[in-house]
Amino acid sequence: MPVKFGPHLIHTSQIFFTSQFSFGLVNLKPITTGHVLVVPKRNVPRLAELTTDEVSDLFVSAQQIGKVIEREFDGTSLTVAMQDGPAAGQTVAHCHVHVIPRRFGDWKINDDIYEELDHTKIDNEERPPRTKEEMAHEAEWLRPFFGDQGVPWDGY
Ligand code: AMP
Repeated sequence: MPVKFGPHLIHTSQIFFTSQFSFGLVNLKPITTGHVLVVPKRNVPRLAELTTDEVSDLFVSAQQIGKVIEREFDGTSLTVAMQDGPAAGQTVAHCHVHVIPRRFGDWKINDDIYEELDHTKIDNEERPPRTKEEMAHEAEWLRPFFGDQGVPWDGY
């Protein structure tokens, strides 16, 4: 079965983590190296539509993924963010958590990261999409860090 991220069909080679209700996805247009997404398997736009078990699983997954992302991309902190609805800057109408490795000085003004996350402000065309091969390579490298959970989900 195809994996859906909002309206997009995701190739399983982009998935590096699977839990009961969520999956980890490498990003088509990361704002920095190591910017990944944690996505509920159920394709719903808003956080409020998830069950308590799904919310819990999503944030435990974000915590596990964040630990690896921070360590492996030489971060000292993380930005963990959700744009929950179009007025908050959400462009893909499938609830998801951004996990982004951070270190001092990575953005000149720290909160500028939120301008970049908001694709309605910074034009996507400035940031070319990565190739399927680049994304598959990153996902393949990440999977072993997650043990049994480092497997690609192949859809409902
Ligand atoms: P948001 O603007 O908060 O909805 O974030 C959407 C995120 O999804 C951005 O980081 C995009 O780069 C990312 N994205 C869009 N399409 C894909 C795709 N096909 N595969 C992986 N990431 C994607």
